[in-house]
Amino acid sequence: MHTSGSSVHQPRRSSTDTVEAMSDLNTIGERDSWRCWLCDEAVNPELSVNADRGPSVDGFAAAKGKKGAVGIERLAHRSCNTKKGKIAPVVPWASDLLVIDPSPIIATVDRLSRKGGREVIARCPRHSDTQAASEWLLDRLSRLVPDLPVATSIEEGGGQYLLILRTD
Ligand SMILES: [Zn+2]
Repeated sequence: MHTSGSSVHQPRRSSTDTVEAMSDLNTIGERDSWRCWLCDEAVNPELSVNADRGPSVDGFAAAKGKKGAVGIERLAHRSCNTKKGKIAPVVPWASDLLVIDPSPIIATVDRLSRKGGREVIARCPRHSDTQAASEWLLDRLSRLVPDLPVATSIEEGGGQYLLILRTD
């Protein structure tokens, strides 16, 4: 094998890897406002990366289908991080919301980010519950997927109210 060509570039990987990982964590933490992308609670940047509630970098694999976006890195508590346990990430709905058959938030957002359109994401018995769920969801998504423009609408059907999530 001859090496006379000048077009071979090896990515430099050296002893600075640890330093780079730390600065990645700070960059990602600041971008996510030091809030865990899964449980939506604050992450203390001063805690050790080995502490359960310490900061760690998780992967938003749901974005992988999107052209050009291969796994977005997100800030998570170490104990919430889904990478190491290889479990599917789940963003829970707030427990005080009165919703029936709520869709998994990440899967729905993933489909909408790839294909656009609209989906029924939950049903509620009363209009006021639907309104509360809508406000909670939009607030939550503003942090979960800040780059995805989404909107909600409420439709009445079959004696219930449907909460619709759509891309704008
Ligand atoms: Zn968390």
